[in-house]
Amino acid sequence: MPEPDYAWLPRENILDFEEIAVLVDAFASQGVDRVRITGGEPLLRRDLPRLIEMIAARPAVRDLALTTNGVLLAGQAARLRAAGLQRITISLDTLRRDRFQALARFDELPAVLAGIDAAVRAGFDSIKLDTVVIRGHNDDELPDLLAFARTIGAEIRFIEYMDVGGATHWSMDDVVPQREMLARLAGTHGPAAPLPGRDSAPAERFRLADGTTFGIIASTTEPFCAACDRSRLTADGLWLLCLYARGGLDLRHPLREGATVQELAHLIRTVWSMRADRGAEERLGSPARDVLIPVAALRRDAHLEMHTRGG
Ligand code: SF4
Repeated sequence: MPEPDYAWLPRENILDFEEIAVLVDAFASQGVDRVRITGGEPLLRRDLPRLIEMIAARPAVRDLALTTNGVLLAGQAARLRAAGLQRITISLDTLRRDRFQALARFDELPAVLAGIDAAVRAGFDSIKLDTVVIRGHNDDELPDLLAFARTIGAEIRFIEYMDVGGATHWSMDDVVPQREMLARLAGTHGPAAPLPGRDSAPAERFRLADGTTFGIIASTTEPFCAACDRSRLTADGLWLLCLYARGGLDLRHPLREGATVQELAHLIRTVWSMRADRGAEERLGSPARDVLIPVAALRRDAHLEMHTRGG
């Protein structure tokens, strides 16, 4: 968390729950049936279970999930589950407290582990752990993290470090490619066989001989843009068609100017029908791959950084 480089969205632009629900209706009318609440950190949003309840009550939404850093989860897991949250993903990059503090800039590993424990007890349909693998920071922990996930009945997904945004000072040297992750895991847990049926999911899933499954999201070295059917809505109503998009469609202004669900749906349909985004594949083809967005540009526009667009 390179805090000095961050810019933040003006508070008055943040959508309220009713506005978010209207946009969910507009997207759902066009066939979107899976919603994930992400961030930034969604558990910082006051009264989040009320938003979960509102979205869960919409029959068109058949899958409702949330991604969190887990710090505040211990106090909220049961309420989120009771509100109708089906699945939860918790970021966990390390099991070592000193490393956690170095990566996250706060000493909250015990709180995250308590949050994971609360999620297990809350009885979600599925719990996933997400680990962003960074060379020299946590790449020696892959076997331990996999073993931890197995003990709590969660599926872990190892994510190649991505060059989205820029404030993290990404470098290709920091990326641990999928094949190297598999080799490291095989050294402790034995070889893993790929599982069929990936469809549009970002993770390729694998199974160990003992039945343990895990995933790898290889967006940096083996992008899967051709199968991607995802888009993102920022907290202030900017609709991004790709994680790498430089711009998006502002839905807040038409919404606040009184557009109906049908009018918003028409906008969404028109823009989506022209979508040609292939951000990760294009980055793979760039000759000198460096930080995507310079820090000066990030300071001017908070929409360009990962914490705003929910990577
Ligand atoms: S880079 Fe863009 S198009 Fe490719 S998988 Fe990610 S969000 Fe989808």
